[in-house]
Amino acid sequence: MKHSMPGLPYAMEALAPYMSQETMEYHYGKHLQTYVDNLNKLVAGTPFERMTLDDIVCRADGAIFNNAAQVWNHTFFFDTLTPRQTGMPDKLVRKLAEDFGSPEAFRQEFTQKAVSWFGSGWVWLAEDADKMLHVVTEPNAGNPLVGGLKPVLTIDVWEHAYYIDYRNRRAAFVEAFWHLVDWEKVASRLS
Ligand code: MN
Repeated sequence: MKHSMPGLPYAMEALAPYMSQETMEYHYGKHLQTYVDNLNKLVAGTPFERMTLDDIVCRADGAIFNNAAQVWNHTFFFDTLTPRQTGMPDKLVRKLAEDFGSPEAFRQEFTQKAVSWFGSGWVWLAEDADKMLHVVTEPNAGNPLVGGLKPVLTIDVWEHAYYIDYRNRRAAFVEAFWHLVDWEKVASRLS
């Protein structure tokens, strides 16, 4: 299948001041576009050409995995942001309390892992086969789907995600991210 750019559920300037239009133009408009274009070139003429993106992520390695997973991860990341944040639905509050002690304890663990992760990668909230939630870190293009977990939330901690707006201050970017998470969407992904 031919992979294409995902639509955004908001305008490019809508996430400012937490995430600027310039960041969106580079991160979504250029980085993600490059991963989509590379993936289409790399799968042409291979058995991966007819697979869904999920199947490619779970079965490929090397450059095809890297580009496919970066398409998956960025699509999911941008889709989970909103300029009109609402409170966490009760269902999610209860689940985070069950699995982490409290929503605040979850947020602290996720923040700590996102701020301290060395190098490029992604931090995820993901559900295991027993429906328990975990905060997991993945290097580079890593995606917890590969290990059988179901992603419900992610943050991109590659420098390209924050260098325009926050330069080297990853912690400020993570703090800003918490103003943009679409909690309704996160809750809707719970089993
Ligand atoms: Mn990125």
